[in-house]
Amino acid sequence: MKVLKFGGTSVGSSKNINNVIKILEDYSKTDLVICVVSAVGGVTDKLLLAGKQAQNKEDNYTESFNTIKDIHLNIIRELNPSNNASILDFVEGKLNELKSLLDGIYLINELSPKTSDKLVSYGEILSSYIISETMKHRGLVAELKNSQELIVTNSNFSKAEVNYNITNRNIQEYFQSASQKITILPGFISKSVTGEQTTLGRGGSDFTAAILAAALKVEQLEIWTDVSGMFTTNPKLVKQAYPIDRISYQEAMELSHFGAKVLYPPTVQPVLDLNIPIHIKNTLEPESAGTIISNEETNSTNAVKGISNISNIALLTLQGSGMVGIPGFSKRLFETLSQEKINIILITQASSEHSICLGIDEAEAEKAKISIDKTFENEIALHKIDPIIVENGLSIIALVGDNMKNHQGISGKMFSTLGKNNINIRAIAQGASEKNISAVILEKDVKKALNTLHEQFFESKTKQLNVFITGVGNVGERLVEQIKQQRKYLKENLKINLRITGLSNSRTMIFNEEGIDLSTWKEQLAEGEKATLEGFFENTKALNLRNSIFVDVTANADVANLYANYLRESIGVVACNKIACSSDLENYKLLKRLSLKYNAPFLFETNVGAGLPIIDTLNNLIASGDKITSIHAVLSGSLNFVFNNFNDKTKFYDVVKQAAAEGYTEPDPRIDLSGVDVARKILILARESGVEMNLEDIQNTSFLSSSGLKSESVDDFYKTLISDESHYQNIYASAKAKDCQLKYVAQFNNGKASVGLEEIPQGHPFYNLKGKDNIVMFYTQRYPEQPMIIKGAGAGADVTASGLFADIIRIGND
Ligand code: ADP
Ligand code: ASP
Ligand code: MG
Repeated sequence: MKVLKFGGTSVGSSKNINNVIKILEDYSKTDLVICVVSAVGGVTDKLLLAGKQAQNKEDNYTESFNTIKDIHLNIIRELNPSNNASILDFVEGKLNELKSLLDGIYLINELSPKTSDKLVSYGEILSSYIISETMKHRGLVAELKNSQELIVTNSNFSKAEVNYNITNRNIQEYFQSASQKITILPGFISKSVTGEQTTLGRGGSDFTAAILAAALKVEQLEIWTDVSGMFTTNPKLVKQAYPIDRISYQEAMELSHFGAKVLYPPTVQPVLDLNIPIHIKNTLEPESAGTIISNEETNSTNAVKGISNISNIALLTLQGSGMVGIPGFSKRLFETLSQEKINIILITQASSEHSICLGIDEAEAEKAKISIDKTFENEIALHKIDPIIVENGLSIIALVGDNMKNHQGISGKMFSTLGKNNINIRAIAQGASEKNISAVILEKDVKKALNTLHEQFFESKTKQLNVFITGVGNVGERLVEQIKQQRKYLKENLKINLRITGLSNSRTMIFNEEGIDLSTWKEQLAEGEKATLEGFFENTKALNLRNSIFVDVTANADVANLYANYLRESIGVVACNKIACSSDLENYKLLKRLSLKYNAPFLFETNVGAGLPIIDTLNNLIASGDKITSIHAVLSGSLNFVFNNFNDKTKFYDVVKQAAAEGYTEPDPRIDLSGVDVARKILILARESGVEMNLEDIQNTSFLSSSGLKSESVDDFYKTLISDESHYQNIYASAKAKDCQLKYVAQFNNGKASVGLEEIPQGHPFYNLKGKDNIVMFYTQRYPEQPMIIKGAGAGADVTASGLFADIIRIGND
């Protein structure tokens, strides 16, 4: 004999009901089958809604009724197109009763818990009738038995408690004499000792099945639902969740108590003592293995079995100095809640006894506050304690596992993982048995918390990075293409799941929390919403994804001004934009502080030397205890290009124009030619070496003509290049006469920095620098005579993009 229960989705359409009938038919070939069914998916909610509307005198209760009616009539017509008259007769009769009941509620303007139970029972009455009759029509030996005639409870409406003596006897007697192969019973509904209709609590059809299984001591209880078992966490919120093969009763109970809706928590109790395994199966995929809940040892190595969550939690805090060391406060507090029939989901009390924190259902928070404040009104009046504090909009998340007690560091890992993702923890509870570690967090953080904890505890350490890129011009586009090309490699070799979740240029922006499809990103971006910098930040923040990284591929000061906002949300910042790091010292220090405080990396390798690993190397030298004594560098790809191509046969104007056309200069070439760009770079290196300095502190000897220096626009500037050609030719001639090369050099020496054009003699490491190459020589305590040298292309879209990419991977490897 087997007991099977089919949930709302499983009986939610004629197609699914056909699946159910097929499964029952197969089982009944070898076994007696007892089948419990829920109401058609969504119908219980709709009945309750119609009841509320009628009670509130809202005329649209009739519309809700009609929807319920249509759902059932359609299913009947689809299941039995040619032979449905008798079924329709009965169902229409029941629907008429239901309509009268709703009309009654509307008239008297009242919906008591007793009437509400009567109202919702129609859902299961109808579904069980339709299914059993359809089976009979198809020639199966099936009978319907109303569970209200078997399951007897007290009168605690909406969540009645079972009287097992009478119930077990009823069930055993009925099945002793029953001769049919398949018995269909409605789940969820029952009757009180005095004959009133009661229900077993939302989701209670599972419980009905467990009561039957235990009374009849069957070998297995099967719960058929719309997912392939009990998952490591809620599969609707975490894509990577997967079904657990085997799990203990205790673990299943903890998970379901803490929100794993797939199993109604009381279900385990009746079958636990009898050691009847519960098998969770998927009606839509009957071949999937599902989950077996039993007492058998599992060979899983993972101490954490699952992660669950309960939404709509309110936290009540009772606090005050008058509570310390005085017994009886908690007794009175709990008694008050018990009298009000308010269920406590979580309790914490600090050892100072100065406060007690309780998690309860948000819907009951107001009632709880009123009654507790009343209980303690004297103490509150005497200022011994404060009026109770209520916080809403919270959720509980819980790690569950029998074996967690044998493993150290699980709670540490849990809280540091949450902390790293800027998830604020409002309260914590961990029982001494350590089967469950719970944390109360903001509702808005639940999805992020579940995903990041799931990644930490279940996903062979794959780290998901969510990248938001602003500025997909030349460099940005290369970056997107490089990411597209390398995604598979990163996943397989570095266990980094790199996704682009936001993209923006100056016109439009797009977001996709599942990761933007990179094969069509350009088309999608062209169709995106209008871009604003604040809008981009607000969207990134609202998505609230774990390991979020904002990538700035602009040269825009307004974008740089938003870094602090991103960092405060624990969103990492990767920038090739130099403005922030070369801005006012206080701002640079603030960003560094925020990065540490909010655990959000702030990386800007490409600020100096594009993709060359200059800043990273410098950071490693410092971190390992070395000291920088001086830096000599050629850091401007554009100025190198200019002076490598300028001679007595070319014109200075033409060479600068060519550099601009090839993308080697900033949009405003004066930033390069005036030396400001190089000054910013040496400033950043000086700051990263530990010296506090501002741009004004850097000595900048310009080689530009005085009219070039004074020019007020880019066009004017270009004109001066033509008119002052002889000025530039003189510079060239002077260097040539000494057999020197012209290089724009940045120096940092004993805390002082300077930039300027220099005549470099033969034999010097800078002499042969070609094209747009950069070179940096670090003289340090460990490299006193022979400097450490980094050299290579220091400009260009591809290398800059790869430098940004390297920063992103650095965060991934963190
Ligand atoms: P039924 O109507 O079959 O009783 P429920 O909706 O009550 O189905 O329960 C199944 C749902 O439980 C799944 O669709 C899923 O969204 C949700 N769920 C939440 N947590 C879990 C979990 N850990 N494992 C499986 N399902 C879960
Ligand atoms: N139909 C009831 C509900 O929705 C019982 C169940 O589905 O288990 O709560
Ligand atoms: Mg359910």
